[in-house]
Amino acid sequence: MASLNTVTYPSDPADPRVRTLGELAVDYALSHGLVMKPAADGAQLSNAAGLAVHAPLALFPSPFPRAGFERALTIQPHLNRLFDRIAADDEFLETYLSSLIKADEFTRRLYDLYRVDRETPRNQRQTAVMGFHRSDYLLHAPDGQLSTAQTIQQVEFNTVSVSFASLGQVTTDFHRAIVLMVVQPNERNIYDQRFVEYELQTKHNINLVRLTVAEVTQKVKLDSANHAMVNGQEVAVIYYRWGYSPDDYNCEEDWTARGLLERSWAIKCPNIAYQLAGTKKVQEVLSRPGALERFIDEPAVCQQLRDCFTGLYPMDSSPAGRQAVAQALESPENFVMKPQREGGGNNIYGTDIPGVLRHMNESEQEAHILMDLIRPPKVHNLLIRNGELHHGPVISELGIFGAWLSDEDGTVHINETRGHLLRTKVESSNEGGIAAGFGVIDSPLLI
Ligand code: ADP
Ligand code: MG
Ligand code: MG
Repeated sequence: MASLNTVTYPSDPADPRVRTLGELAVDYALSHGLVMKPAADGAQLSNAAGLAVHAPLALFPSPFPRAGFERALTIQPHLNRLFDRIAADDEFLETYLSSLIKADEFTRRLYDLYRVDRETPRNQRQTAVMGFHRSDYLLHAPDGQLSTAQTIQQVEFNTVSVSFASLGQVTTDFHRAIVLMVVQPNERNIYDQRFVEYELQTKHNINLVRLTVAEVTQKVKLDSANHAMVNGQEVAVIYYRWGYSPDDYNCEEDWTARGLLERSWAIKCPNIAYQLAGTKKVQEVLSRPGALERFIDEPAVCQQLRDCFTGLYPMDSSPAGRQAVAQALESPENFVMKPQREGGGNNIYGTDIPGVLRHMNESEQEAHILMDLIRPPKVHNLLIRNGELHHGPVISELGIFGAWLSDEDGTVHINETRGHLLRTKVESSNEGGIAAGFGVIDSPLLI
């Protein structure tokens, strides 16, 4: 038996009770649509054969301190507002992203699209912005033990391609318009996306069209007034589940398609400014003294947000940057190094950092940030993947969803906290993404 402060779970995968529960969990997942496409090169085969597997999940809810969970819910509307203000702040984005775009082609191309958007007069472009965000947290526990007093530390704030909890009210204004979801080819997480489609159809009578970027190139045209038209219908909202990684852009046509969508009248979720505001660089800048105050007037709110920030450092030629790099070389085990990328699997951890730095020139280094390594508490749980149970000390990452809809004139239509996601991974893995194959879906047992 593994003790978890307040609860005790069985831990032996061979325990007959555990095996029975594991079978029930898999049946539950399969019959409730908690499913994904199978992994591997069989993607095409599985599309044809209609195969699905259960999404990896935790057998028991992992314990999570109630106070930290509630803090994360409370600050979400402030974070939604903060990122809207950042995205609207030309000078801020230009100042802090200009150094990145020298070394990072991907960020530069996004930034070029942003400039086109900003240089278009207001009456010729869409000024409404829609955000669907997820702010991610780990608990910090240097001794590795879970305690109810532990504070949450923000891992990152995601503005692009966040899985949808509910489009719900956000789109009630757009009846009989259609929503365009831009997706990756051979998406394994298709059922998460289908939920959105069915909800929109049955509850709101809105059609959703899923297209890959290659299909966007073929099927989406701008009319003379820049309405994005597909099959003779105007697209009201574009929801990106694609476009956050350089791998998503395979050819020049893919960038052209992104530019076309950005220029259209459709409301983008997110628009390009939001995507840039969600970069790791911006997260680092926000942790500097006075940075939050540029966007938020209330000192108490700034304090609440700052309480969740762990140490973040530039890797540029500023004195702070030089000092941070020197520290990372001296005690790399305390740091994570991050490029401006999304989707998991891109970070450089601990003792790998010095070796990687040796092969980088200055401007490549500058396109990264350094972050203190958060050491989350380990708890015991059983994880089920492909029908198999694994016991292990595990680590949980809490994500809080935020929904936002506003206009550039300052009107905020929606600013809400919309649910949560707990992702759990075995302690030995650095990364926690579910689609990336590292983590499982869990739910918090508040303690
Ligand atoms: P991505 O945008 O690719 O998801 P993240 O910043 O979320 O990038 O990093 C991916 C994963 O790496 C996180 O889910 C977490 O498990 C781990 N990680 C990131 N930053 C830290 C940190 N400072 N301390 C400990 N683990 C971290
Ligand atoms: Mg991310
Ligand atoms: Mg992440």
